[in-house]
Amino acid sequence: MSPARATGIRLLPDSVVGRTALVLVAALMISVAAAVVLFAIQRQEALESIGGRNAAERVAGLVTLAEQLVPELRRDTLSSQDTPNFRVGWGPQPVALDNEDFGLAAYVLSALEEGLDGREIKVSTRPGPLLGGPSTGMGRGRHMHGPGGPGGPGGGPGIGGGPGGGGGRVIGPALRVSVHLKDGSWLNVLAPLDLGDPLWRPRFVAPLVIALVLVTLAGLVAVRRATRPFATFAQAAERLGVDVSAPPLAEAGPREVRQAAQAFNVMQSRIARFVQDRTQMLAAISHDLKTPITRLRLRAEFMDDDDQRNKMLTDLEEMEAMIAATLAFARDDAASEPRIRLDLAAMVQGMVEDLDDLGARCSYDGPGSLVVEARPAALKRALANLIDNAIKYGGEAAVTLGTGGRDALVTIDDHGPGIPAEARERVFAPFVRLEASRSRDTGGTGLGLAVARAAIRAHGGDITLSDRPGGGLRVTVSLPGMESLIRAH
Ligand code: ATP
Ligand code: MG
Repeated sequence: MSPARATGIRLLPDSVVGRTALVLVAALMISVAAAVVLFAIQRQEALESIGGRNAAERVAGLVTLAEQLVPELRRDTLSSQDTPNFRVGWGPQPVALDNEDFGLAAYVLSALEEGLDGREIKVSTRPGPLLGGPSTGMGRGRHMHGPGGPGGPGGGPGIGGGPGGGGGRVIGPALRVSVHLKDGSWLNVLAPLDLGDPLWRPRFVAPLVIALVLVTLAGLVAVRRATRPFATFAQAAERLGVDVSAPPLAEAGPREVRQAAQAFNVMQSRIARFVQDRTQMLAAISHDLKTPITRLRLRAEFMDDDDQRNKMLTDLEEMEAMIAATLAFARDDAASEPRIRLDLAAMVQGMVEDLDDLGARCSYDGPGSLVVEARPAALKRALANLIDNAIKYGGEAAVTLGTGGRDALVTIDDHGPGIPAEARERVFAPFVRLEASRSRDTGGTGLGLAVARAAIRAHGGDITLSDRPGGGLRVTVSLPGMESLIRAH
Protein backbone atom coordinates (compact mmCIF):
# COMPACT_ATOMS: atom_id res chain seq x y z
CA MET A 1 0.00 0.00 0.00
CA SER A 2 1.35 3.41 -0.90
CA PRO A 3 1.89 5.94 1.90
CA ALA A 4 -0.66 8.31 0.34
CA ARG A 5 -3.30 5.61 0.40
CA ALA A 6 -2.48 4.74 3.97
CA THR A 7 -2.90 8.40 4.99
CA GLY A 8 -6.15 8.62 3.04
CA ILE A 9 -7.54 5.71 4.96
CA ARG A 10 -6.52 7.25 8.26
CA LEU A 11 -8.25 10.53 7.39
CA LEU A 12 -11.60 8.91 6.65
CA PRO A 13 -13.54 7.50 9.60
CA ASP A 14 -13.72 3.72 9.44
CA SER A 15 -17.31 3.14 10.44
CA VAL A 16 -20.46 3.86 8.45
CA VAL A 17 -21.66 5.97 11.39
CA GLY A 18 -18.48 8.08 11.32
CA ARG A 19 -18.58 8.57 7.57
CA THR A 20 -22.27 9.47 7.58
CA ALA A 21 -21.69 11.92 10.42
CA LEU A 22 -18.89 13.52 8.41
CA VAL A 23 -21.07 13.90 5.30
CA LEU A 24 -23.99 15.12 7.42
CA VAL A 25 -21.97 17.76 9.24
CA ALA A 26 -20.29 18.93 6.03
CA ALA A 27 -23.63 19.22 4.20
CA LEU A 28 -25.18 20.97 7.17
CA MET A 29 -22.30 23.46 7.42
CA ILE A 30 -22.61 24.28 3.73
CA SER A 31 -26.37 24.78 3.95
CA VAL A 32 -26.03 26.88 7.12
CA ALA A 33 -23.35 28.98 5.44
CA ALA A 34 -25.61 29.47 2.40
CA ALA A 35 -28.52 30.42 4.66
CA VAL A 36 -26.36 32.91 6.56
CA VAL A 37 -25.18 34.52 3.32
CA LEU A 38 -28.76 34.79 2.03
CA PHE A 39 -29.92 36.18 5.34
CA ALA A 40 -27.09 38.71 5.43
CA ILE A 41 -27.88 39.91 1.91
CA GLN A 42 -31.59 40.24 2.70
CA ARG A 43 -30.88 42.01 5.94
CA GLN A 44 -28.47 44.40 4.30
CA GLU A 45 -31.01 45.25 1.62
CA ALA A 46 -33.78 45.77 4.15
CA LEU A 47 -31.56 47.99 6.32
CA GLU A 48 -30.45 50.06 3.35
CA SER A 49 -33.95 50.50 2.01
CA ILE A 50 -35.48 51.56 5.36
CA GLY A 51 -32.45 53.55 6.48
CA GLY A 52 -32.20 55.26 3.09
CA ARG A 53 -35.84 56.28 3.10
CA ASN A 54 -35.60 57.65 6.65
CA ALA A 55 -32.44 59.61 5.91
CA ALA A 56 -33.93 60.99 2.71
CA GLU A 57 -37.07 62.15 4.53
CA ARG A 58 -35.01 63.88 7.15
CA VAL A 59 -32.75 65.55 4.61
CA ALA A 60 -35.73 66.69 2.53
CA GLY A 61 -37.27 68.20 5.66
CA LEU A 62 -34.04 70.03 6.43
CA VAL A 63 -33.75 71.35 2.89
CA THR A 64 -37.27 72.74 3.01
CA LEU A 65 -36.56 74.25 6.41
CA ALA A 66 -33.23 75.78 5.36
CA GLU A 67 -34.64 77.37 2.25
CA GLN A 68 -37.49 78.94 4.15
CA LEU A 69 -35.19 80.57 6.71
CA VAL A 70 -33.08 83.63 6.27
CA PRO A 71 -29.33 82.86 6.33
CA GLU A 72 -28.94 84.35 9.82
CA LEU A 73 -31.43 81.93 11.31
CA ARG A 74 -30.31 79.00 9.25
CA ARG A 75 -27.14 78.41 11.17
CA ASP A 76 -28.80 78.08 14.59
CA THR A 77 -31.77 76.18 13.34
CA LEU A 78 -29.69 73.71 11.40
CA SER A 79 -27.22 73.26 14.20
CA SER A 80 -30.11 72.45 16.52
CA GLN A 81 -30.77 69.46 14.24
CA ASP A 82 -27.16 68.35 14.51
CA THR A 83 -26.80 65.10 16.52
CA PRO A 84 -23.86 62.73 16.74
CA ASN A 85 -25.65 60.21 14.56
CA PHE A 86 -26.96 62.75 12.09
CA ARG A 87 -24.48 65.53 11.57
CA VAL A 88 -25.91 68.57 9.84
CA GLY A 89 -23.80 71.29 8.26
CA TRP A 90 -24.18 74.20 5.91
CA GLY A 91 -21.43 75.67 3.83
CA PRO A 92 -20.11 76.61 0.43
CA GLN A 93 -18.81 73.09 -0.35
CA PRO A 94 -20.54 69.72 -0.56
CA VAL A 95 -19.40 66.98 1.80
CA ALA A 96 -20.24 64.34 -0.75
CA LEU A 97 -18.24 64.56 -3.91
CA ASP A 98 -19.99 62.17 -6.20
CA ASN A 99 -23.01 59.98 -6.55
CA GLU A 100 -23.02 56.28 -5.91
CA ASP A 101 -25.51 54.27 -7.87
CA PHE A 102 -25.68 51.25 -5.59
CA GLY A 103 -26.64 50.29 -2.05
CA LEU A 104 -27.72 52.78 0.57
CA ALA A 105 -26.58 55.85 -1.39
CA ALA A 106 -28.73 54.80 -4.33
CA TYR A 107 -31.79 54.37 -2.10
CA VAL A 108 -31.25 57.80 -0.53
CA LEU A 109 -30.65 59.45 -3.88
CA SER A 110 -33.76 58.04 -5.53
CA ALA A 111 -35.92 58.98 -2.51
CA LEU A 112 -34.45 62.49 -2.42
CA GLU A 113 -34.86 63.05 -6.13
CA GLU A 114 -38.56 62.37 -5.74
CA GLY A 115 -38.97 65.04 -3.05
CA LEU A 116 -36.39 67.65 -4.12
CA ASP A 117 -36.96 67.95 -7.79
CA GLY A 118 -34.46 70.00 -9.74
CA ARG A 119 -31.75 70.50 -7.10
CA GLU A 120 -28.30 69.10 -7.44
CA ILE A 121 -27.89 66.21 -5.02
CA LYS A 122 -24.80 64.24 -4.17
CA VAL A 123 -25.01 61.07 -2.10
CA SER A 124 -22.02 58.94 -1.33
CA THR A 125 -20.55 56.68 1.30
CA ARG A 126 -17.02 57.29 0.11
CA PRO A 127 -14.90 59.55 2.29
CA GLY A 128 -14.10 62.85 0.66
CA PRO A 129 -11.16 65.20 1.18
CA LEU A 130 -13.41 67.78 2.72
CA LEU A 131 -14.52 65.54 5.51
CA GLY A 132 -15.14 67.72 8.49
CA GLY A 133 -13.68 70.75 6.76
CA PRO A 134 -15.05 74.16 7.63
CA SER A 135 -16.24 74.80 4.13
CA THR A 136 -18.82 72.06 4.45
CA GLY A 137 -20.16 73.41 7.67
CA MET A 138 -19.25 70.19 9.41
CA GLY A 139 -18.08 71.38 12.77
CA ARG A 140 -17.86 69.63 16.05
CA GLY A 141 -21.51 69.99 16.60
CA ARG A 142 -23.87 72.63 17.78
CA HIS A 143 -22.01 73.11 21.03
CA MET A 144 -18.91 74.28 19.22
CA HIS A 145 -20.02 77.38 17.50
CA GLY A 146 -17.05 78.94 15.88
CA PRO A 147 -16.47 82.62 15.31
CA GLY A 148 -17.64 82.22 11.76
CA GLY A 149 -20.30 84.72 12.50
CA PRO A 150 -23.53 85.01 10.75
CA GLY A 151 -21.86 85.20 7.42
CA GLY A 152 -23.48 83.46 4.56
CA PRO A 153 -22.26 80.29 3.11
CA GLY A 154 -19.78 82.01 0.91
CA GLY A 155 -18.39 84.26 3.58
CA GLY A 156 -17.35 82.00 6.35
CA PRO A 157 -16.85 78.57 7.52
CA GLY A 158 -20.53 78.03 8.06
CA ILE A 159 -22.41 76.63 10.94
CA GLY A 160 -20.34 75.14 13.59
CA GLY A 161 -17.26 75.96 11.61
CA GLY A 162 -14.39 77.97 12.73
CA PRO A 163 -10.92 77.00 13.83
CA GLY A 164 -12.19 73.88 15.44
CA GLY A 165 -14.21 72.98 12.43
CA GLY A 166 -11.83 70.28 11.41
CA GLY A 167 -12.63 68.38 14.56
CA GLY A 168 -15.86 67.01 13.26
CA ARG A 169 -14.28 63.92 11.83
CA VAL A 170 -16.45 60.94 11.45
CA ILE A 171 -14.64 57.76 12.10
CA GLY A 172 -15.68 54.75 10.11
CA PRO A 173 -18.01 54.55 7.17
CA ALA A 174 -20.63 57.23 6.90
CA LEU A 175 -23.38 58.32 4.59
CA ARG A 176 -22.76 61.74 3.05
CA VAL A 177 -25.58 63.70 1.52
CA SER A 178 -25.14 67.15 -0.01
CA VAL A 179 -28.00 69.14 -1.46
CA HIS A 180 -27.35 72.26 -3.48
CA LEU A 181 -29.72 74.88 -2.06
CA LYS A 182 -31.35 77.45 -4.26
CA ASP A 183 -29.02 80.20 -3.00
CA GLY A 184 -25.94 78.25 -4.09
CA SER A 185 -24.86 76.96 -0.68
CA TRP A 186 -24.75 73.30 0.30
CA LEU A 187 -26.71 71.54 2.98
CA ASN A 188 -24.52 68.72 4.18
CA VAL A 189 -25.52 65.70 6.19
CA LEU A 190 -23.14 63.11 7.48
CA ALA A 191 -24.55 60.00 9.18
CA PRO A 192 -22.26 57.30 10.49
CA LEU A 193 -23.35 54.02 9.01
CA ASP A 194 -24.77 51.71 11.58
CA LEU A 195 -24.02 48.30 10.14
CA GLY A 196 -26.18 46.60 12.72
CA ASP A 197 -25.31 43.51 14.72
CA PRO A 198 -22.46 41.53 13.27
CA LEU A 199 -23.60 38.09 12.18
CA TRP A 200 -21.31 36.33 14.59
CA ARG A 201 -23.07 37.71 17.64
CA PRO A 202 -23.98 34.84 20.05
CA ARG A 203 -27.65 35.68 19.65
CA PHE A 204 -27.40 34.87 15.98
CA VAL A 205 -24.80 32.08 16.05
CA ALA A 206 -26.07 30.13 19.07
CA PRO A 207 -29.29 28.83 17.45
CA LEU A 208 -27.29 27.71 14.41
CA VAL A 209 -24.74 25.89 16.54
CA ILE A 210 -27.49 24.28 18.60
CA ALA A 211 -29.28 23.20 15.41
CA LEU A 212 -26.03 21.79 14.02
CA VAL A 213 -25.36 19.79 17.17
CA LEU A 214 -28.94 18.53 17.40
CA VAL A 215 -29.14 17.47 13.75
CA THR A 216 -25.74 15.75 13.98
CA LEU A 217 -26.77 13.88 17.13
CA ALA A 218 -30.11 12.88 15.62
CA GLY A 219 -28.32 11.76 12.46
CA LEU A 220 -25.83 9.70 14.45
CA VAL A 221 -28.60 7.97 16.38
CA ALA A 222 -30.53 7.28 13.17
CA VAL A 223 -27.47 5.93 11.33
CA ARG A 224 -26.46 3.84 14.32
CA ARG A 225 -29.92 2.30 14.40
CA ALA A 226 -29.92 1.78 10.65
CA THR A 227 -26.52 0.08 10.62
CA ARG A 228 -27.14 -2.18 13.60
CA PRO A 229 -28.44 -5.01 11.36
CA PHE A 230 -25.02 -5.13 9.64
CA ALA A 231 -23.47 -6.46 12.83
CA THR A 232 -26.28 -8.98 13.23
CA PHE A 233 -25.75 -10.17 9.65
CA ALA A 234 -22.00 -10.47 10.18
CA GLN A 235 -22.60 -12.58 13.31
CA ALA A 236 -25.16 -14.73 11.51
CA ALA A 237 -22.80 -15.32 8.57
CA GLU A 238 -20.03 -16.28 10.98
CA ARG A 239 -22.34 -18.65 12.82
CA LEU A 240 -23.48 -20.18 9.54
CA GLY A 241 -19.87 -21.09 8.75
CA VAL A 242 -19.73 -23.00 12.02
CA ASP A 243 -23.21 -24.41 12.23
CA VAL A 244 -25.52 -24.77 9.24
CA SER A 245 -28.42 -25.69 11.46
CA ALA A 246 -28.15 -22.52 13.58
CA PRO A 247 -31.53 -20.88 14.35
CA PRO A 248 -32.74 -18.48 11.62
CA LEU A 249 -32.42 -14.70 11.89
CA ALA A 250 -35.35 -12.72 13.26
CA GLU A 251 -37.21 -11.20 10.31
CA ALA A 252 -38.00 -7.89 11.99
CA GLY A 253 -37.20 -4.21 11.54
CA PRO A 254 -37.48 -1.95 8.48
CA ARG A 255 -38.41 -3.43 5.09
CA GLU A 256 -34.87 -3.65 3.69
CA VAL A 257 -33.60 -5.37 6.83
CA ARG A 258 -36.53 -7.80 6.81
CA GLN A 259 -35.87 -8.63 3.17
CA ALA A 260 -32.17 -9.18 3.78
CA ALA A 261 -32.90 -11.37 6.81
CA GLN A 262 -35.41 -13.36 4.78
CA ALA A 263 -32.90 -13.86 1.97
CA PHE A 264 -30.26 -14.89 4.50
CA ASN A 265 -32.60 -17.42 6.10
CA VAL A 266 -33.55 -18.89 2.72
CA MET A 267 -29.85 -19.20 1.85
CA GLN A 268 -29.11 -20.86 5.17
CA SER A 269 -31.91 -23.40 4.81
CA ARG A 270 -30.80 -24.18 1.24
CA ILE A 271 -27.22 -24.78 2.36
CA ALA A 272 -28.46 -26.96 5.22
CA ARG A 273 -30.62 -28.98 2.85
CA PHE A 274 -27.78 -29.30 0.36
CA VAL A 275 -25.39 -30.61 3.00
CA GLN A 276 -28.04 -32.94 4.33
CA ASP A 277 -28.83 -34.31 0.86
CA ARG A 278 -25.17 -35.02 0.14
CA THR A 279 -24.63 -36.71 3.47
CA GLN A 280 -27.73 -38.84 3.02
CA MET A 281 -26.60 -39.84 -0.45
CA LEU A 282 -23.20 -40.84 0.90
CA ALA A 283 -24.85 -42.86 3.64
CA ALA A 284 -27.20 -44.55 1.14
CA ILE A 285 -24.38 -45.53 -1.25
CA SER A 286 -22.22 -46.85 1.56
CA HIS A 287 -25.11 -48.78 2.98
CA ASP A 288 -26.15 -50.28 -0.35
CA LEU A 289 -22.56 -51.37 -1.09
CA LYS A 290 -22.66 -53.64 1.95
CA THR A 291 -24.95 -56.23 0.27
CA PRO A 292 -22.89 -56.80 -2.91
CA ILE A 293 -19.73 -56.99 -0.78
CA THR A 294 -21.32 -59.64 1.42
CA ARG A 295 -22.27 -61.58 -1.76
CA LEU A 296 -18.72 -61.24 -3.11
CA ARG A 297 -17.37 -62.54 0.18
CA LEU A 298 -19.62 -65.60 -0.06
CA ARG A 299 -18.48 -66.21 -3.64
CA ALA A 300 -14.84 -65.79 -2.71
CA GLU A 301 -15.22 -68.57 -0.15
CA PHE A 302 -15.81 -70.96 -3.05
CA MET A 303 -12.61 -70.05 -4.89
CA ASP A 304 -10.19 -72.91 -5.31
CA ASP A 305 -7.01 -70.91 -5.39
CA ASP A 306 -6.18 -70.37 -1.71
CA ASP A 307 -3.77 -67.57 -2.36
CA GLN A 308 -6.19 -65.63 -4.58
CA ARG A 309 -9.04 -66.29 -2.18
CA ASN A 310 -7.15 -64.88 0.79
CA LYS A 311 -6.08 -61.79 -1.14
CA MET A 312 -9.65 -61.22 -2.26
CA LEU A 313 -10.99 -61.61 1.26
CA THR A 314 -8.40 -59.11 2.54
CA ASP A 315 -9.48 -56.61 -0.14
CA LEU A 316 -13.09 -57.12 0.74
CA GLU A 317 -12.34 -56.61 4.42
CA GLU A 318 -10.64 -53.36 3.59
CA MET A 319 -13.62 -52.26 1.55
CA GLU A 320 -15.96 -53.10 4.40
CA ALA A 321 -13.83 -51.09 6.81
CA MET A 322 -13.88 -48.10 4.48
CA ILE A 323 -17.62 -48.33 4.08
CA ALA A 324 -18.12 -48.65 7.84
CA ALA A 325 -15.94 -45.57 8.38
CA THR A 326 -17.84 -43.63 5.71
CA LEU A 327 -21.14 -44.59 7.24
CA ALA A 328 -19.95 -43.53 10.67
CA PHE A 329 -18.78 -40.21 9.23
CA ALA A 330 -22.12 -39.62 7.47
CA ARG A 331 -24.07 -40.64 10.57
CA ASP A 332 -22.15 -38.25 12.82
CA ASP A 333 -22.69 -35.40 10.47
CA ALA A 334 -26.39 -36.08 10.05
CA ALA A 335 -26.87 -36.35 13.78
CA SER A 336 -25.58 -32.76 14.20
CA GLU A 337 -24.91 -33.04 17.85
CA PRO A 338 -25.91 -30.01 19.95
CA ARG A 339 -23.17 -27.70 21.20
CA ILE A 340 -22.61 -27.62 24.93
CA ARG A 341 -20.15 -26.00 27.25
CA LEU A 342 -17.45 -28.46 28.05
CA ASP A 343 -14.09 -28.55 29.73
CA LEU A 344 -11.63 -29.09 26.90
CA ALA A 345 -8.72 -29.56 29.31
CA ALA A 346 -10.54 -32.32 31.20
CA MET A 347 -11.51 -34.01 27.92
CA VAL A 348 -7.95 -34.03 26.55
CA GLN A 349 -6.47 -35.11 29.89
CA GLY A 350 -8.94 -38.01 30.09
CA MET A 351 -8.05 -39.17 26.58
CA VAL A 352 -4.31 -39.01 27.29
CA GLU A 353 -4.73 -40.96 30.55
CA ASP A 354 -6.77 -43.68 28.84
CA LEU A 355 -4.14 -44.10 26.12
CA ASP A 356 -1.39 -44.06 28.73
CA ASP A 357 -3.15 -46.87 30.59
CA LEU A 358 -3.09 -48.89 27.35
CA GLY A 359 0.68 -48.47 27.20
CA ALA A 360 0.84 -45.76 24.51
CA ARG A 361 3.44 -43.02 24.93
CA CYS A 362 1.28 -40.03 25.52
CA SER A 363 1.58 -36.84 27.59
CA TYR A 364 -0.49 -33.78 28.45
CA ASP A 365 0.68 -30.24 29.18
CA GLY A 366 -1.75 -27.40 29.81
CA PRO A 367 -4.27 -25.86 32.20
CA GLY A 368 -6.44 -27.94 34.51
CA SER A 369 -9.59 -26.48 33.03
CA LEU A 370 -10.54 -24.63 29.83
CA VAL A 371 -14.21 -24.20 29.06
CA VAL A 372 -15.33 -24.01 25.43
CA GLU A 373 -18.62 -24.46 23.61
CA ALA A 374 -18.49 -27.52 21.35
CA ARG A 375 -20.07 -30.80 20.24
CA PRO A 376 -18.37 -33.21 22.62
CA ALA A 377 -18.52 -36.46 20.60
CA ALA A 378 -17.39 -34.85 17.33
CA LEU A 379 -14.59 -32.91 19.04
CA LYS A 380 -13.42 -35.99 20.93
CA ARG A 381 -13.38 -38.10 17.77
CA ALA A 382 -11.37 -35.45 15.92
CA LEU A 383 -8.78 -35.21 18.70
CA ALA A 384 -8.68 -38.99 19.07
CA ASN A 385 -7.93 -39.39 15.33
CA LEU A 386 -5.05 -36.89 15.58
CA ILE A 387 -3.58 -38.42 18.75
CA ASP A 388 -3.99 -41.86 17.22
CA ASN A 389 -2.04 -40.77 14.12
CA ALA A 390 0.75 -39.29 16.27
CA ILE A 391 1.11 -42.57 18.18
CA LYS A 392 0.74 -44.72 15.06
CA TYR A 393 3.12 -42.80 12.79
CA GLY A 394 5.22 -40.82 15.23
CA GLY A 395 5.69 -43.21 18.13
CA GLU A 396 4.31 -40.83 20.75
CA ALA A 397 1.86 -37.98 21.27
CA ALA A 398 2.74 -34.87 23.27
CA VAL A 399 -0.52 -32.93 23.66
CA THR A 400 -0.38 -29.29 24.70
CA LEU A 401 -3.39 -27.08 25.44
CA GLY A 402 -3.34 -23.32 25.48
CA THR A 403 -5.00 -20.19 24.15
CA GLY A 404 -3.91 -17.91 21.33
CA GLY A 405 -5.85 -14.65 21.20
CA ARG A 406 -9.48 -15.63 20.72
CA ASP A 407 -8.65 -19.29 20.00
CA ALA A 408 -8.31 -22.38 22.12
CA LEU A 409 -5.25 -24.21 20.76
CA VAL A 410 -4.51 -27.94 20.98
CA THR A 411 -1.06 -28.97 19.74
CA ILE A 412 -0.14 -32.61 19.11
CA ASP A 413 3.57 -33.29 18.57
CA ASP A 414 5.27 -36.55 17.63
CA HIS A 415 8.73 -37.80 16.72
CA GLY A 416 7.79 -39.57 13.51
CA PRO A 417 8.78 -38.92 9.90
CA GLY A 418 6.35 -35.98 9.61
CA ILE A 419 4.43 -35.15 6.45
CA PRO A 420 6.25 -33.38 3.58
CA ALA A 421 4.91 -29.84 2.96
CA GLU A 422 3.54 -30.68 -0.49
CA ALA A 423 1.39 -33.50 0.95
CA ARG A 424 -0.04 -31.55 3.88
CA GLU A 425 -3.23 -30.59 2.07
CA ARG A 426 -3.62 -33.90 0.27
CA VAL A 427 -3.63 -36.04 3.43
CA PHE A 428 -6.88 -34.39 4.51
CA ALA A 429 -8.72 -35.84 1.50
CA PRO A 430 -10.73 -38.98 2.30
CA PHE A 431 -8.95 -42.30 1.75
CA VAL A 432 -5.58 -40.69 1.12
CA ARG A 433 -2.70 -42.51 2.83
CA LEU A 434 0.94 -41.79 2.27
CA GLU A 435 3.24 -44.48 0.87
CA ALA A 436 5.44 -44.55 3.93
CA SER A 437 2.60 -45.50 6.23
CA ARG A 438 1.19 -48.12 3.86
CA SER A 439 4.45 -49.99 3.72
CA ARG A 440 4.69 -50.05 7.49
CA ASP A 441 1.43 -51.94 7.61
CA THR A 442 -0.21 -49.56 10.03
CA GLY A 443 -3.71 -50.23 8.74
CA GLY A 444 -6.34 -47.52 8.57
CA THR A 445 -8.61 -46.29 5.85
CA GLY A 446 -7.28 -42.76 5.33
CA LEU A 447 -10.43 -41.13 6.74
CA GLY A 448 -9.00 -40.04 10.12
CA LEU A 449 -7.76 -36.59 9.06
CA ALA A 450 -10.79 -35.96 6.80
CA VAL A 451 -13.16 -36.66 9.67
CA ALA A 452 -11.09 -34.61 12.11
CA ARG A 453 -10.91 -31.57 9.85
CA ALA A 454 -14.62 -31.70 8.99
CA ALA A 455 -15.47 -31.77 12.71
CA ILE A 456 -13.08 -28.97 13.67
CA ARG A 457 -14.20 -26.82 10.74
CA ALA A 458 -17.81 -27.38 11.76
CA HIS A 459 -16.76 -25.75 15.03
CA GLY A 460 -15.41 -22.77 13.06
CA GLY A 461 -11.82 -23.82 13.67
CA ASP A 462 -9.14 -25.48 11.60
CA ILE A 463 -6.29 -27.99 11.70
CA THR A 464 -2.83 -27.06 10.46
CA LEU A 465 0.15 -29.35 9.95
CA SER A 466 3.71 -28.16 10.44
CA ASP A 467 7.19 -29.44 11.30
CA ARG A 468 7.84 -30.03 14.94
CA PRO A 469 11.08 -28.30 15.91
CA GLY A 470 13.55 -31.14 16.29
CA GLY A 471 11.72 -33.50 13.92
CA GLY A 472 8.30 -35.04 13.64
CA LEU A 473 4.89 -33.60 12.91
CA ARG A 474 3.10 -30.83 14.76
CA VAL A 475 -0.67 -30.77 14.41
CA THR A 476 -2.34 -27.58 15.65
CA VAL A 477 -6.07 -27.49 16.26
CA SER A 478 -7.62 -24.06 16.72
CA LEU A 479 -11.14 -23.53 17.98
CA PRO A 480 -11.88 -19.84 17.38
CA GLY A 481 -14.62 -17.35 18.23
CA MET A 482 -15.11 -18.58 21.73
CA GLU A 483 -13.39 -15.75 23.53
CA SER A 484 -16.35 -15.25 25.79
CA LEU A 485 -16.23 -18.87 26.78
CA ILE A 486 -12.54 -19.64 26.98
CA ARG A 487 -11.85 -19.67 30.67
CA ALA A 488 -8.49 -21.10 31.55
CA HIS A 489 -7.70 -21.85 35.20
P1 ATP B 1 -7.46 -43.83 9.65
O1 ATP B 1 -7.10 -42.65 10.49
O2 ATP B 1 -8.67 -43.62 8.86
O3 ATP B 1 -7.42 -45.10 10.40
P2 ATP B 1 -5.03 -43.10 8.40
O4 ATP B 1 -4.40 -42.79 9.68
O5 ATP B 1 -4.15 -43.67 7.35
O6 ATP B 1 -6.32 -43.95 8.54
P3 ATP B 1 -5.48 -40.32 8.25
O7 ATP B 1 -5.53 -40.24 9.71
O8 ATP B 1 -6.39 -39.49 7.45
O9 ATP B 1 -5.62 -41.80 7.76
O10 ATP B 1 -4.04 -39.93 7.79
C1 ATP B 1 -3.71 -39.88 6.41
C2 ATP B 1 -2.26 -40.14 6.20
O11 ATP B 1 -1.49 -39.04 6.68
C3 ATP B 1 -1.75 -41.31 6.95
O12 ATP B 1 -1.95 -42.50 6.19
C4 ATP B 1 -0.28 -40.99 7.08
O13 ATP B 1 0.42 -41.37 5.91
C5 ATP B 1 -0.26 -39.51 7.18
N1 ATP B 1 -0.14 -39.10 8.58
C6 ATP B 1 -1.14 -38.77 9.40
N2 ATP B 1 -0.67 -38.40 10.60
C7 ATP B 1 0.66 -38.52 10.55
C8 ATP B 1 1.74 -38.32 11.49
N3 ATP B 1 1.49 -37.91 12.73
N4 ATP B 1 2.99 -38.53 11.07
C9 ATP B 1 3.23 -38.93 9.80
N5 ATP B 1 2.27 -39.13 8.88
C10 ATP B 1 1.00 -38.94 9.24
MG1 MG C 1 -5.43 -41.83 11.16
